[in-house]
Amino acid sequence: MAAKKVNTIKLKFESARNLAPAPESKSVAKIEERYELFINGKFEKPSSKKYFDTINPANEEKLSSVADANATDVNKAVVAARNAYEKVWKKTSPKERAKYIYRIARMIQERARELAVIETLDGGKPIRESRDFDVPTAANHFFYYAGWADKLEYAFPNRSPQPLGVAGQIIPWNFPLLMAAWKIAPALATGNTIVLKPAETTSLTALKLAEIIQEADLPPGVVNIITGAGSTGAAIVNHPDINKIAFTGSTDVGKIIQKAIAGSNKKATLELGGKAANIIFDDAPLDQAVEGVINGIFFNQGHVCCAGSRLFVQESVYKVVLQKLKDRIESLIVGDPLDKNTDIGAINSKQQLEVINKYLKIGQQEGAEMFQSSCAIPKKGFYCRPTIFTNVAQSNRIAQEEIFGPVLAIQTFRTEDEVIEKANNTPFGLSAGVWTDKGSKIFNMTSKIRAGVIWANTYNKFDPTSPFGGYKESGYGREGGLHGLGAYLKL
Ligand code: NAP
Ligand code: MG
Repeated sequence: MAAKKVNTIKLKFESARNLAPAPESKSVAKIEERYELFINGKFEKPSSKKYFDTINPANEEKLSSVADANATDVNKAVVAARNAYEKVWKKTSPKERAKYIYRIARMIQERARELAVIETLDGGKPIRESRDFDVPTAANHFFYYAGWADKLEYAFPNRSPQPLGVAGQIIPWNFPLLMAAWKIAPALATGNTIVLKPAETTSLTALKLAEIIQEADLPPGVVNIITGAGSTGAAIVNHPDINKIAFTGSTDVGKIIQKAIAGSNKKATLELGGKAANIIFDDAPLDQAVEGVINGIFFNQGHVCCAGSRLFVQESVYKVVLQKLKDRIESLIVGDPLDKNTDIGAINSKQQLEVINKYLKIGQQEGAEMFQSSCAIPKKGFYCRPTIFTNVAQSNRIAQEEIFGPVLAIQTFRTEDEVIEKANNTPFGLSAGVWTDKGSKIFNMTSKIRAGVIWANTYNKFDPTSPFGGYKESGYGREGGLHGLGAYLKL
């Protein structure tokens, strides 16, 4: 019986790989040859006179040139934001602020297809993800915070909430449009003005958002979007006239920022790395759990700060879970991100692919056993097969360090206490997942695991109303929900 079942599954998997290509059309994506800096409501040439290429990581072709902002440009943007804050935005009634934010949300919806295609072209993530998750969730964040703009007194009763002033916002490459929305929407709702820098490899959707903001007639200077590399980010962090830094990115850069602003009056929220534990108990619905684990680490190439990169399986079900995982991994489709069938798209950059490959070597050298899907991957572009490691020790680097790729380290456990200790044995504390039939186990886990978000019998679920953020080296402060408003207010 069992053998027969395995065969049918295999057949189904093979047929999934043989699906005819179903690429999304690129024709909706209007990408200019060159992009300038969005400062004071206009697109301006950089005083550096320098531009850098942004490429499509799926085929290594150039998409566009993007302006490289230097310290002079950063200063221009901050001056524009300060003026807009003092002269316009601070005095704009909350109800009017809400209208602008609502308008931006509607315009994101109207241009959803274009934004999804550009997100996929520039960053490499499957169109299914950008179309069904990134873009609608970005719009939802603007809708949600539009609703709060004129209700801040109700959100914080008896505390007369006041804006902070100018916010400097720096975001990573894994959710370019969504991270911009997470940062811009609550800052506008609370009456702050903004200088935002997207990541170097994924500037295009932030620049499209600049076009939307311009079309929405937001007063000039309220939102400024400037592109560049790490040094542009550092110039924002170190600018004396910025009141708040909101950063999402690596723990290493987060530490640099923390040092840079120490002793200044700048407020900060830092959303940093993660090494989440997904925990499967023997009473869990195993097929559902395996699907959740696959979704948690492989979809989106593992380019997710809260990716479930460590899996803990209760010993009694380890063999069956491992087999189910291997079977499912064999079925995943790796390839053209624009294809609607693709599960795993391109790794965001050559540099990131090198990081992942380095960890694949380290894992093997440390004595862990590696299993990879046998699928073919495109010759051009940056790709990585879904990979699992078994025989992993707690001290192994692949179990301790953030890899940020489609790589899962699997360990086993016997008791609840044991798995709590193992799950907490990491410098990070961003997220975790628990799979069990018993509510009591869920409550025990959620109260003892040190992570900002813990999902039960599901994974990677996001909603603008829920706060998100970490413990320990995963950073501090919360984004989303009511907490996300507080981070932009003097209370
Ligand atoms: P990163 O290297 O830290 O970069 C993040 C942003 O900071 C980019 O815009 C980057 O510019 C800029 N930057 C680099 N050096 C800087 C400096 N010295 N001062 C100011 N800004 C600087 O991170 P990443 O590789 O883009 O993103 C992946 C990381 O983000 C992972 O660790 C992931 O866990 C984390 N992440 C966390 C969350 C969360 O909510 N906790 C969400 C998503 C991602 P360039 O790109 O031009 O270098
Ligand atoms: Mg790119």
